[in-house]
Amino acid sequence: MDGIAKWIEKRTAITPERTALIGARRWLSYREMNGEVNRIARMLLDRYRLQPQERIAILANNGIEYLLLLFAAARLGLIAVVLNHRLTPRELQFQVNDSGVKVLIAEDCFRQAVEEFIRETAIGQVLWFDPSGSSAEPLERQASAYSAEDLAEERADGSSPFIICYTSGTTGRPKGAVLTQENMFWNAVNNCVGLDITSSDRVLTLLPLFHIGGIGLFALPALFAGGSVIVPDRFEPEKTLQVIEECRVTLVMGVPTIYDLLRKSPSFAKTDFRSVRTLYSGGAPCPHELISFYLERGIPFGQGFGMTETSPTVFLLSREDYHRKIGSIGKPVLFCDIRVVDEQRRDLPAGEVGELLVRGPHVMRGYWNLPEETAAAIQDGWLATGDLVRRDEEGFVYIAGRKKEMIISGGENIYPLEIEQVIGELPAVDEVAVTGAADDKWGEVPVAVIVVKEAMELDQETVKNHCLRRLAKYKVPHLVHFVSALPKNATGKIDKKQLRKQIEESTGWKQYG
Ligand code: ATP
Ligand code: MG
Repeated sequence: MDGIAKWIEKRTAITPERTALIGARRWLSYREMNGEVNRIARMLLDRYRLQPQERIAILANNGIEYLLLLFAAARLGLIAVVLNHRLTPRELQFQVNDSGVKVLIAEDCFRQAVEEFIRETAIGQVLWFDPSGSSAEPLERQASAYSAEDLAEERADGSSPFIICYTSGTTGRPKGAVLTQENMFWNAVNNCVGLDITSSDRVLTLLPLFHIGGIGLFALPALFAGGSVIVPDRFEPEKTLQVIEECRVTLVMGVPTIYDLLRKSPSFAKTDFRSVRTLYSGGAPCPHELISFYLERGIPFGQGFGMTETSPTVFLLSREDYHRKIGSIGKPVLFCDIRVVDEQRRDLPAGEVGELLVRGPHVMRGYWNLPEETAAAIQDGWLATGDLVRRDEEGFVYIAGRKKEMIISGGENIYPLEIEQVIGELPAVDEVAVTGAADDKWGEVPVAVIVVKEAMELDQETVKNHCLRRLAKYKVPHLVHFVSALPKNATGKIDKKQLRKQIEESTGWKQYG
């Protein structure tokens, strides 16, 4: 199968003058994008003599240059290691060493962090750039001296690994998922088909491009379809609302926190959302109240489900089901199969909670340098997700929580997400997380940690009484703890390990597990 560079070239040949990329400073047509990709590829080749499969790392803010770099790497068959700039220098060092990075391409604003970790790595050279041109030359200006004319005819094909993308590290140390160009192709097809993405779409990229959600949702699918991709350099709620209106955005992918910040932003009520076909949420459980908030205002809002290992989309909720199936992540996408199984990998009927297994052409090749973890994760072609789900009679799937977060109390399984959703119904709750704490009598008991909305009040008794009305007694939190903010990891997900530590420190309760 052809690789990404080939598909971009063909798209360029079909509609050269259409807008491909819209950045904070400039717009590129397909023709311009393809030209820049080839010049950057030539520059990487001439300056660093890179061979196919060698790793380059990218440490940069979002921007169209980020995508150009990824496509140039794909053109040459290089593997791009996409680095999360919110990680500490030590964590970055682990990832570049783990993946064996030879050349680092970094935005100048990260110079200090790079200087802190680069010495004990095998990185030989760094290409610095600054999109604004103030502290280093912008990438396109550096590449303009190179000619793409004599770039080799052969393009890397679909089987080439495209990126090493580290998982968010929510349940342990981040693992480098190796995703091939072909994996990304199938993700593009699944999203184009699932969301009717066409050349008329203008998709807004709010998720970081170092995260699979930024690349796969919906930048690559939209370019595959001949649409336009808008890439602001950072997420800023007021600016985002302005872009949605001015660029007549049709599709947005975000995480629940992004949509919560947007609705709290001063211009929200007066923003014109009529161009928006759908706001999509994924990456973390989405409070039902948040979904209803948008739907009640006539703004289409759907959920999807994805993970790094699956490039990322596995589920999408279709627009006819947004209202009817609030809270569901939908059904598996076209080229993807799922199973819901028990501990012995036996298939479970509708209604029962079990682990989600995924199989499809978008499933990663494996984890970089982790043969044992890969073998444990993928058996007979089925990827074990570590996520617990339940299907209803119509086949709609609901997330129950992560296997590792399940609480066992007096022999009963408790899913923190179910309790979080119930507590989230209280109007004063801004954010909530439930976790387990060790208990002599029950083994473990649920504990809730709540952030209360500004200028509102809430006490432990109100929370417990509300839970008692809505949940079996054993699921009612034994302790309700109020904090000003929840600990989050570098991709913005609630860090439950840290949360347990905080509970332990402030209450004296033992940490479990
Ligand atoms: P790690 O694998 O390192 O522990 P992670 O699983 O958070 O971290 P990602 O690959 O970024 O890393 O996230 C995928 C996970 O996000 C899924 O396995 C699932 O747990 C969660 N997730 C994704 N979409 C949804 C959703 N719509 N609702 C609930 N959870 C979701
Ligand atoms: Mg994971």
